[in-house]
Amino acid sequence: MTKIVNHWIGGKTVEGASGTHGPVTNPATGAVTTKVAFASVDEVDAAVAAAKEAYATWGQSSLAQRTSILFKFRALLDANRDAIAELITAEHGKVHSDALGEVARGLEIVDLACGISVQLKGELSTQVASRVDVSSIRQPLGVVAGITPFNFPAMVPMWMFPIAIACGNTFVLKPSEKDPSASLKIAELLAEAGLPDGVFNVVHGDKVAVDRLLEHPDVKAVSFVGSTPIARYIHTTASANGKRVQALGGAKNHMLVLPDADLDAAADAAVSAAYGSAGERCMAISAVVAVGSIGDELVEKIRERAEKIKIGPGDDPASEMGPLITRVHRDKVASYVEGAAAEGCEVVLDGSAYTYEGAGFEDGHWIGISLLDKVPTSAKAYQDEIFGPVLTVLRTETYEEALELINASPFGNGTAIFTRDGGAARRFQLEVEAGMVGVNVPIPVPVGYHSFGGWKDSLFGDHHIYGNDGTHFYTRGKVVTTRWPDPADAPAGVDLGFPR
Ligand code: NAD
Repeated sequence: MTKIVNHWIGGKTVEGASGTHGPVTNPATGAVTTKVAFASVDEVDAAVAAAKEAYATWGQSSLAQRTSILFKFRALLDANRDAIAELITAEHGKVHSDALGEVARGLEIVDLACGISVQLKGELSTQVASRVDVSSIRQPLGVVAGITPFNFPAMVPMWMFPIAIACGNTFVLKPSEKDPSASLKIAELLAEAGLPDGVFNVVHGDKVAVDRLLEHPDVKAVSFVGSTPIARYIHTTASANGKRVQALGGAKNHMLVLPDADLDAAADAAVSAAYGSAGERCMAISAVVAVGSIGDELVEKIRERAEKIKIGPGDDPASEMGPLITRVHRDKVASYVEGAAAEGCEVVLDGSAYTYEGAGFEDGHWIGISLLDKVPTSAKAYQDEIFGPVLTVLRTETYEEALELINASPFGNGTAIFTRDGGAARRFQLEVEAGMVGVNVPIPVPVGYHSFGGWKDSLFGDHHIYGNDGTHFYTRGKVVTTRWPDPADAPAGVDLGFPR
């Protein structure tokens, strides 16, 4: 029997009433295993109304109340790592160890939220004038919404809601319709931790649900993570509706390798960062820029390692890389490799026709490893975010040429430099136009207490996500100026002058 994933509104499961559902597929078998309810405008309104009602008390709750619930949630999350990872693997396709890693990175943000009291501490200046004190405080916004992508169905929601609710907001999540189950498990754990009904809600769906959240007058802020065209749309639409928005988009992450780098370490890093999670990571390395004469040797080292990657179902402990999310996406990724030679690329490894051998897995969304060398910047395989296991290698003569190439990209999410030269690394970190930079670190995803975010077409809005930026995004500032005159003082009298 096909499983049905319903909404979570006001602290309980609410059956979808719109009559519209979407299919959820197990990427390893290609079988539709689940139907996910798509919310109508009325159902989104019900979730926002539940969140608004809950805000009346949650927004007034003490820091101690909020953090004690988050500590309980953290313990439950920790105990349920495996169960959540299994749901992720079954719907996303990534290998179990990788799914566990995503839960662990999400948990880091819950850790941060457990200590929100420190971040929410205000500022006080005493005696700024005679008997006048000034304090700066931050207050929650109200109902806030999160719209999340398929590639991290547990971690990306956890980049958002732990901080939002710790700051006193209530939350409506619209997860990806491709792998919706992890978010419901999280909702159940939050309820078990004692989170009051309505503080965290989940509505599933497509553009109908998203558009309603973007225009709903009671939604005060929208956090979005997904592809660049949709991020741009979310930013424009939600801003036009007067909401605070942070919209994180797609990426093309470059790894610059200087001639003095340890080429074995660089090849290990490039292969791990390009093919991990089948390249379906916004911080995946998808373009290596080899500087000077090292290109041939580096490509050979990458090829040797990449060829050995074991592809298979995510729940098989022997698998290192699983299938892609949908058949449509698989075919699109394959098309970049199929067209690469005609665009002037040298095809070193072609995984476009790969299929996993095994009874029951014939219809899985399988694809193998592809490696394209001497890729011209005009090739579509370079220009587009492929979001699959395809690594492109570009060659330049100098560091300056490589930097210019990287900075010419419309994306600016993450980037990395591999070198033994501290001066070159320092120069790169100052000169490169990207939000997250790794020095001999291929995927520089910031830890929870620093913020995550790209530049250019990789982020629309002013705030990065989580860390201090998270607290800022989910609160608004207020400055209070106070005078307590001494009762013995004579009244100040009327003064129409501008206070100095
Ligand atoms: P997507 O943009 O297709 O979908 C993201 C969300 O937007 C989903 O919830 C989806 O239902 C909704 N959506 C899709 N089309 C919509 C439309 N026309 N109108 C309104 N809502 C719509 O992204 P995806 O394919 O789920 O995820 C992969 C993308 O996310 C990649 O581009 C990847 O780089 C990006 N991503 C970025 C980051 C980051 O931090 N910058 C992190 C993870 C993923």
